[in-house]
Parts: sequence; structure tokens; C-alpha cells
Amino acid sequence: MSNASAPSSTERAPETSAAPSAAPKFTEEPVVHIHHWNEGLMSLRINRDAAYGFVPGQFARIGLKKPDGEIIWRAYSIVSAPHEAFLEFFLVIVPTGEFSSRVATLKLGDTMFVEKQSQGFLTADRFKDGRDLWLMATGTGLAPYISMVRDHVLWQQFENIVIVLSVRERSDLGYTEELKFLADNSPRPGGARLKFVTTLTRNTLDGALNGVLSGRINALIESGELEHAASLPLSDEHSRFMLCGNPDMVEGMRALLKSRGFRMNRKLESGHIIVENYW
Ligand SMILES: Cc1cc2nc3c(=O)[nH]c(=O)nc-3n(C[C@H](O)[C@H](O)[C@H](O)COP(=O)(O)OP(=O)(O)OC[C@H]3O[C@@H](n4cnc5c(N)ncnc54)[C@H](O)[C@@H]3O)c2cc1C
Repeated sequence: MSNASAPSSTERAPETSAAPSAAPKFTEEPVVHIHHWNEGLMSLRINRDAAYGFVPGQFARIGLKKPDGEIIWRAYSIVSAPHEAFLEFFLVIVPTGEFSSRVATLKLGDTMFVEKQSQGFLTADRFKDGRDLWLMATGTGLAPYISMVRDHVLWQQFENIVIVLSVRERSDLGYTEELKFLADNSPRPGGARLKFVTTLTRNTLDGALNGVLSGRINALIESGELEHAASLPLSDEHSRFMLCGNPDMVEGMRALLKSRGFRMNRKLESGHIIVENYW
């Protein structure tokens, strides 16, 4: 997708930027829930303005004010589903990161800015056909897929949904209980079967011991292990793919899938692959 939504930007605070009569393009929302998965990974819920709309897979632009009044803005995929009353995000805390290091210090009741308009094209409605949806992520690239499976639409659109999550080590996993529960309770009547596959790229022995795969997603496709783990073959007719997270994974997977005959999904030409790069 086009990255018009630049991941890194700063803007002047409202009192110094907009003409007095212009309606602000954002709302200010309190933090209502914080969860730390480990020292570098957290989830955050903020209040959702009643007028804020989005489709699962889209991202929000959220902002924090610096002491000098500037607002730092970053893009974050929305984890929560459209029926939920809050906006949830799944964040990496980059120790040197201007934005995320500040998010890590937020407390309940502190506020963040949220642009009123959601953005992004990593949405399943862009696939006009397909039977099996492969949702592949590194790390927090899992976020948009949680929103999709918390919503009901995807479950009717596909027969099989496979979430493939690659992280460095076991402690980098988030949302596994929720996803395992959904997978174990699928298929529901008239709905898709969900398979949740995780792979570790470090501490691979730990992975093997705990029944998860080892190695990068593209290597698991090349070896056939991923199809085996999901009990689902890749096919031009049935398979559709979303790739989200680390740009190296996205690029590597895109090249691999293209070499297998899969095409990018475009506005005027339906295909198999939709991607979102996080940096
Ligand atoms: C469309 C879109 C959606 C995004 N959604 C999310 C999301 O749901 N969760 C999230 O944590 N980030 C997400 N990001 C990245 C996010 O916008 C920030 O870049 C990131 O949180 C770090 O911000 P920062 O200012 O702390 O550091 P930055 O100065 O922006 O980044 C510093 C470096 O950290 C690394 N980095 C950035 N993001 C990540 C990440 N997610 N995982 C691992 N390393 C990273 C990169 O090497 C980057 O160069 C998204 C980016 C885009 C463009």
C-alpha cells in the first residue's frame, strides 16, 4: 500500500497550528486499560469516540504531546473490533523510539490524540474471491488480524483462516490464549475453521519443546512445513494472503509467493496478496 500515512511525523499542537475556527482533525481520549506482555511489548486501550469508524485491518494515527507542545504522531493497527467501545493497540516499545518509549510511561487516565479518520487497505473486503485466507505476521503485525477475527464478517467470507505469527522467542508472543480459544472453538456453524500457527526464529529449541514451529515463515513455506502444520495446501484458486509487519518478511514473502504464481491484489485487478509494512 502507499505509505502516505508516514509512520513518523510530528505536528504542532492544536493551539499553535490550526486557524481558531477550524474543527480539530483529532479527538483526545483517555487510556482505559494497559497490559504489559513483557518489558518490550504492551497492549493499550483508549476510549473510542462515538463517531470513530473503521474496518478491521485498518490503522489509527495516534499522537502524544511533547513537553514543548509538539504532537508526535504514529500509525497503529487497530486490535479491537468495530463493535467494541474502545480502541485497542498492540505495541512494541522501541527503547530509543520517540513515540513508543513515551507510550510505555502512560498511566490510566492519561490522554492520547486520535485522528478522526481511520486509514489503510489491509482489509479482507478487497478480496473478491478465495476460500482460504492466510494471515501472516511478524510480532505486532498480528494486531490487524485480531481485529478481523474478533469481528464476525471474516468468518463468513472464508472457509479456512490461518494465522501465522513469527516472533523471535516465546516471550514475544501476545494474544495466544485468545487465538487458541477461537481456533479450538472453530468451525462454528456456517463459519470458518481457524488455525493458529506460531513460529520462533530464536530459541528454536524452546519452540520445538512447546509444539510451535521454528524458523522464518518463508523457510517454512519452502520446506512445506507450514502447509503441513495448517493441514491446508497452497493453491492459486483458493489461497489469499495478507502480510503484515517487518518489511523484510513482507518483501521476502511477496517475492516467494510471486515465484509460486501468486499475484498482488490491486484495485483494478484482483489477485492473491495484500501487504502492510510497519516501517
Ligand atoms: C500502517 C502502520 C501500522 C503500524 N502498526 C503498528 C502496530 O500495530 N504496533 C506497533 O508496535 N507498531 C506499529 N507500527 C509502527 C509504529 O508506527 C511505530 O513506528 C513504532 O511503534 C515505533 O515508533 P517509535 O517512535 O517509538 O520509533 P520509530 O523511530 O518510529 O522506529 C524506530 C525503529 O523501530 C523499529 N520498529 C518500528 N516499529 C516496530 C514494530 N512494530 N516492531 C518491531 N520493530 C519496530 C524499526 O526498526 C524502526 O526503524 C505501524 C506502522 C505503520 C506504518
